[in-house]
Amino acid sequence: MTGGGAEAGPGVGRDGTRIADWSVETVAMELDVPFGISRGTTTTAESVVVRVRDETGREGVGSGSPEPHYGETPATARAVLPDLLAAVEGEPPGAIQRRHVAFEDVVRGNPAARAAVDVACYDLHARQLDRALYALLGLAPERAPRSCFSVGLAEPDEMRDRAGAAADAGFEHLKVKLGTDRDRERVAAVREGAPDARLRVDANEAWTPAEAVRKSHWLADHDVEFVEQPVPASDREGLRFVYEHASLPVAADESCVTAADVPDVADRADVAVVKLDKAGGVWPALQQIHAARAHDMEVMVGCMVQSNASLAAAAALAPLCDYADLDGSLLLADGADPFTFDGLRADGELALAGTAPGIGVTERS
Ligand SMILES: [Mg+2]
Repeated sequence: MTGGGAEAGPGVGRDGTRIADWSVETVAMELDVPFGISRGTTTTAESVVVRVRDETGREGVGSGSPEPHYGETPATARAVLPDLLAAVEGEPPGAIQRRHVAFEDVVRGNPAARAAVDVACYDLHARQLDRALYALLGLAPERAPRSCFSVGLAEPDEMRDRAGAAADAGFEHLKVKLGTDRDRERVAAVREGAPDARLRVDANEAWTPAEAVRKSHWLADHDVEFVEQPVPASDREGLRFVYEHASLPVAADESCVTAADVPDVADRADVAVVKLDKAGGVWPALQQIHAARAHDMEVMVGCMVQSNASLAAAAALAPLCDYADLDGSLLLADGADPFTFDGLRADGELALAGTAPGIGVTERS
């Protein structure tokens, strides 16, 4: 055994388990089709991929997709990652709380960079113990809800075809990106393509409060589960107005970045949207989930358009959540993701039981 006060849990501080080495790379992954939301359209997803290795050469991997909307870019992530990784070097990857305390001294912001390091450490820790991450967290794999498939903003006929293809692939839930003056036409097109799917809609802050309430009335005729982020995150009173007057439940995404935001949105949204790349990793995402539960909110675990090397870790948290929006890697072009993950099926089922140790990803050869 090694000393140094690292004997905090199973496997923590055993000989050979400390992080001895790390590396960082940036990967640009082409999307299957351009992905549009109200803020713009993207054709590639750029992620940072972090690897940490212990003294025996075992490796853990994690990734993060920096979002300029949250003040982070691949360049800022690259700039802070060496300092974040220096903070975990020499530590066992199971020293979870200690690394997050250390991160606070290294960098504020840059949640996707912190998430990439945190996921890589969780992956290595779980691999050292030969357990899948969901099992290490004690979660019941059969509790994971199915993931929806996101239909990005596009011409209505394209949205209809994408919705139809997703329904044909077996998706039961579709998330429809809205936030334009032709929203009604687009939803009708999606409904035409996928008559039996349950829909969620995400305006990504594009509506005014009155517009959101008005649109919720006709959206309610389309078997819509909730409207996500109807108004700008800065418009706190607007969010409350929508919550009090809309015909549908409201989900808070851009308004609910970390656990600290939960008390603020609990009286103006029904669902908290939790993402590793917003919260700063698995540990802070767990805190956000528990905060949301303590405030009687429902929870959706979401993702960016991103690699399985992050998505798989988010999937491990799905058993704690009511809804999953974990199609990020399915939106990438075939073969673009350097990592494969058996736990996310092509029809949105999260089949966590039986996934490989760690977060459960395999590097594409
Ligand atoms: Mg959203």
